[in-house]
Order: sequence, then structure tokens, then C-alpha cells
Amino acid sequence: MVLAELGGSISRALQQMSNATVIDEKVLNECLNEITRALLQSDVQFKLVRDMQTNIKKIVNLEDLAAGHNKRRIIQNAIFNELCKMLDPGKPSFTPKKGKPSVVMFVGLQGSGKTTTCTKYAYYHQKKGWKPALVCADTFRAGAFDQLKQNATKAKIPFYGSYMESDPVKIAVEGVETFKKENCDLIIVDTSGRHKQEAALFEEMRQVAEATKPDLVVFVMDSSIGQAAFDQALAFKQSAAVGAVIVTKMDGHAKGGGALSAVAATKSPVIFIGTGEHMDEFEGFDVKAFVSRLLGMGDWSGFMDKIQEVVPKLDNQPELLQKLSEGTFTLRIMYEQFQNLLQMGPLSQLTSMLPGAELMPKGNDKESQAKIKRYMTMMDSMTNEELDSTNTKIITESRIVRIARGSGRLVREVMEMFEEYKRLAKIWSKMKGIKIPKKGGISPL
Ligand code: GDP
Repeated sequence: MVLAELGGSISRALQQMSNATVIDEKVLNECLNEITRALLQSDVQFKLVRDMQTNIKKIVNLEDLAAGHNKRRIIQNAIFNELCKMLDPGKPSFTPKKGKPSVVMFVGLQGSGKTTTCTKYAYYHQKKGWKPALVCADTFRAGAFDQLKQNATKAKIPFYGSYMESDPVKIAVEGVETFKKENCDLIIVDTSGRHKQEAALFEEMRQVAEATKPDLVVFVMDSSIGQAAFDQALAFKQSAAVGAVIVTKMDGHAKGGGALSAVAATKSPVIFIGTGEHMDEFEGFDVKAFVSRLLGMGDWSGFMDKIQEVVPKLDNQPELLQKLSEGTFTLRIMYEQFQNLLQMGPLSQLTSMLPGAELMPKGNDKESQAKIKRYMTMMDSMTNEELDSTNTKIITESRIVRIARGSGRLVREVMEMFEEYKRLAKIWSKMKGIKIPKKGGISPL
């Protein structure tokens, strides 16, 4: 099951639960079973899934929930937190500091994408002003040095390696020393892989680590290896001080569950994911954003970060933010949003991260712009009461006819605009209760 399918199955299970009139033990069990099935099909390790199910049942005690509590929200929240917990080992990995030399050693099986990922990691940091360098200590695979050299040259990153020397430890030490002298602040050591886990590989890894004393060991894992992920990650963890995980090939038909298993096995966070063969197909990994997307809740942490970024740019900031946190969405807000969309203003960046945003008019193509302008003309013919009310019932048939006439549009078009409004209001209502905007630690629910 590819990641998108996993997300789809989980959100469908939650949706089905939301559709139930009463949420009782049976409905909760059905929902959890559905989610369990989806996670297992995505190759999350059985024990992890079972623990998650037990934990949720412990947290959500339906009988204890006082009447009036929003059970759905509590259940959804519990699922969100449990999934985050699975992906969050509880301690951050070592983070290299710009300007201070750090050695980062990459380990993983052959074909996992290790060499590609080393370059991506170097390139990512180079773009942010670091001075990275690459050392090829893979003397096992013929062509490994050529590959690294080619990638490094393309990205204009200094590299070190040898066609003659067969001792990976010697190359690694020389490379690290050379780049320390050159004041590189991120020295990346690519080590050998093997087709399978074997003693020789782990021994070599241990020796390279002992000689170069890396600040961080990154385990690179191919996301498509399925249920094997847990054991493979554990084997690497036992032989090297793995401190972080990078999951590659998330763009393919990957079973995303492997990432969850690798975190559990190594007790180390996923720090990046590879999403393609190209150098810049590489993304930082954020647990909350990942799980939010899985649950079809939009990218909440990205959204909250964005709020902080754009808030200073919003003129009508206090009222709008107040309304955001109340989940209130009036036609006037929609009008203001449309104005923003037309200017590609800050709000359009925000709304693009919300759940259901893919259905929003985008404002950047001709057709959408025409539609937005048409809607705005109709709204120009509305009264203040209509624009500021959250009660759609006040928009009666006679009012629709009046708005159509006033704006020179068809009744059908006005009705279509109201449908759009109702849909957006529903999306907006999910923001009820969000706290705005202290950096970090913002709960989406
Ligand atoms: P190594 O043996 O572990 O060093 O693996 P390589 O870096 O040589 O990668 C093996 C193959 O996987 C190459 O064809 C890479 O282009 C490809 N690859 C690496 N990362 C990704 C990724 O994130 N997405 C995709 N689609 N391919 C990748």
C-alpha cells in the first residue's frame, strides 16, 4: 500500500466513525480495526500496531467520557498522538552546527540510496550556506567512487576518495582530516553497503566509526523494503551508533510503514526523506506534518509556521486571527480571502496548506481568477447582514434572486457560489480552537 493509500484508508476510517450517529465501543473498535489493517498492509510492524491499538483504547474510555465531550475529537486526537509517538523516539538527533566541523557517517545496505542521499544531504546544507564535503569510503562496490565524484562535481561539492586504496578506514581518516584542515563544517562519509546484512559489513562500519569518530551516524533505508525494515534497522543499530534515519524512494510505490518501524527499531528520528533521483528531491521530515497529512488533516505544523511568517503581513490581523481560532467563516471573510488570492497574498499561502485546499480556486490561472471575480461581483450585491452572518439559512430564495439580479448573474451561479462558501466554511471550522501563534507545540485539534 503506498503512502497516499494508507492516508486515504485512515481518513476513511475516521470519516466513517464521524458519520456514525452514536460513537460506542463497537464503532470505536471498527474504526481502530480499519486503521490497524491499513497500517499492517503498509508494513508497519505488528507489535507497534498492536501497542498503538491498546494505547488508544486505554486513553479513550468511552464510558468515562462525560456527556457533552466531543468523543470524535478525543478519538482522533488519540490516534494523531499515537501515530506521532510511533514516529517520534522522544529525543532529537544530533544536529550539526553551521561553522563548527561535524562528521556525519552514512550507513545502509547497497542500493538503499546511500550515495545519492549523501550528495542530497550535502547539497541541501550547501544551499543554506554550509561548507560540506564528501568522502567516499566505499571501496567494496566498483564504481562507488565514480558515482560520488560525479554527483559531487555536479553539485560543486569537494570530495575525497581513491581508485587505488582498498582500505576504507584509511580513506575515511584521510578524507576527514583533509576537510577539517580546509575548514569544512559538514564532512560526510559514505561507507560501503552490501547486498545483505553480513558480519564483514558491520565490522567495517565499526572500524570506520572508531577511526573517524562521527558526530552522527545516519542509517539510510529504502522505503520499499516492507516488513524487513524493522529487523534491518535493528541490525544496523546494534552495530553502529545510529542516531538518525533517512528514508529514501518515498516517491515510488513505497510502503511508508517501514519508516515507522525503522524509528522504533533504532529509537532515532527520521530526519529527511528522499522523494526522487534528483539532487533536490529531498525533504526535511516533520512528524506532526507527516501524520497530519496521513490523517487528512492538512499540514498543520506547516500551517502554523506559515501563520507566524505571514501574520505580520496581514493588515486586519487581530480580527482575522480571532475569527480563525473561532472557526468562524463568513461570506465577508471569503470575500477578503478572494481579494488575497487574486493578489497571491499571504492568505493564499496559508489556505493552500489546509485540508481540502486542493479544491480551492487557486487564483493564479485565468479560469480561477474569472470565477473568483464573478463570485466577488455577486457578493458586492449582498447586504452587510448577509455578508457577516454565519447562518446560511438567512439566504432565502428571494434573496438569491435579488443577488442574481443585482449582480447581473444567473440564479444558478449564485447558488453555486453559496455551495462553494459552505464547503470552505466546513474546512475553516476545523480550525476552531487552534492557538495562535506561539512558536512550536501547537496542537491541531
Ligand atoms: P547505494 O548503493 O545505497 O549507494 O545506492 P545509490 O545511491 O546508488 O542509489 C540506488 C538507486 O536508487 C539509484 O538509481 C538512485 O538514483 C536511486 N535513488 C536513490 N534515492 C532515491 C529516491 O529518493 N527516489 C528514487 N526514485 N530513487 C532513488
